[in-house]
Amino acid sequence: ELPFKPPMPWFGMDIGGSLTKLIYFEPKDITDEEKEQEVETLRVIRKYLTSNTAYGKTGVRDEQLEMCDMPLGGRIGTIHFIRFPSSEMTAFIELAKAKNFSSLAKSICATGGGAYKFEDEFKKQVHLRLHKFDELDCLIQGMQYIDRHNPGFECYYWKQPNEPEQCEKVPFDFRNPYPCLIVNIGSGVSILAVYSATKYSRVSGTSLGGGTFLGLCSLLTGCETFEEAIELASLGDSTNIDKLVRDIYGGDYGRFNLSGDTVASSFGNMISQERRKTASKSDLARATLVTITNNIGSIARMCAIQQGIQNVVFVGNFLRVNTISMKLLAHAMDFWSQGTMKALFLEHEGYFGAMGCLLELMR
Ligand code: ADP
Repeated sequence: ELPFKPPMPWFGMDIGGSLTKLIYFEPKDITDEEKEQEVETLRVIRKYLTSNTAYGKTGVRDEQLEMCDMPLGGRIGTIHFIRFPSSEMTAFIELAKAKNFSSLAKSICATGGGAYKFEDEFKKQVHLRLHKFDELDCLIQGMQYIDRHNPGFECYYWKQPNEPEQCEKVPFDFRNPYPCLIVNIGSGVSILAVYSATKYSRVSGTSLGGGTFLGLCSLLTGCETFEEAIELASLGDSTNIDKLVRDIYGGDYGRFNLSGDTVASSFGNMISQERRKTASKSDLARATLVTITNNIGSIARMCAIQQGIQNVVFVGNFLRVNTISMKLLAHAMDFWSQGTMKALFLEHEGYFGAMGCLLELMR
């Protein structure tokens, strides 16, 4: 007896505050018979999604993340990772309409806040029901699936994160991940203490997240995109903007072991008109990145202490193309915990919610 399988195409979608993540499973074990029976609409959708890496002006397929020979729902295929700004959701719905999606399926699995926000629009415009799942449940399920099935290493850490010359990315065996703290840095931040694949709680969060970085950075520098903000930050020096312990003490604050290089007051130098005049855009971008990152690191560390957890996994698209923040987090976790905690990272950083959602479709 064949297990129940939903009709193709198989999608999982995570509609976040900033980005919509779309995971598409492309079956590779299609028989000749199936090929003949494949309806035109499905062929069009498959061709459209797999032959391009850019969709319109803002959609992107992250080809480097693609996973081949993946088992799903009794099939073998390729998993594709696609993203576009959530502000383009209306255009996406138009596309679903134009490609006649509703002739294939009556519902799509969706998670993230947008699954609620856009539910009506999907129903009215394309006659599609959104089958909604909780984003944090999906995140954990998706993480576990991708880590288990990645033939390479999904998980890694940064060795000697504070030494630009010696610093390197090192694979980490994540087969027994629990307990761990998951710090999901999206537009905002959620922190989960996870004890098993099904037992977890959301222990904390902060509204100062990736959206805050991009919002403040846009205000301060006039940058237009996340990539531009990160590029600017990579050229800047935050110590022109922040007030350091040495700016106050003239050196270290020895009694409490605080080195002169420690930030005492983020953006603290900007109270001076003189310093404001000489602050460059890249310095401001760097300081914004460092401020947001260190704040998240510090909250994560407190949560880890409170929960008695040593492995802290940072995920979310804030870490996309953002080695500066990853290394800062790695160093901060190690340094302030006297080496007892470890900051871990995952290759498919922002896609676990969407992956978990696709898994829900298979249940
Ligand atoms: P959400 O589900 O809230 O959208 P994500 O995990 O997708 O969260 O992360 C969103 C954050 O990722 C943004 O706030 C921004 O800091 C960062 N980011 C990375 N790449 C992009 C991009 N291309 N466009 C917008 N934000 C991006």
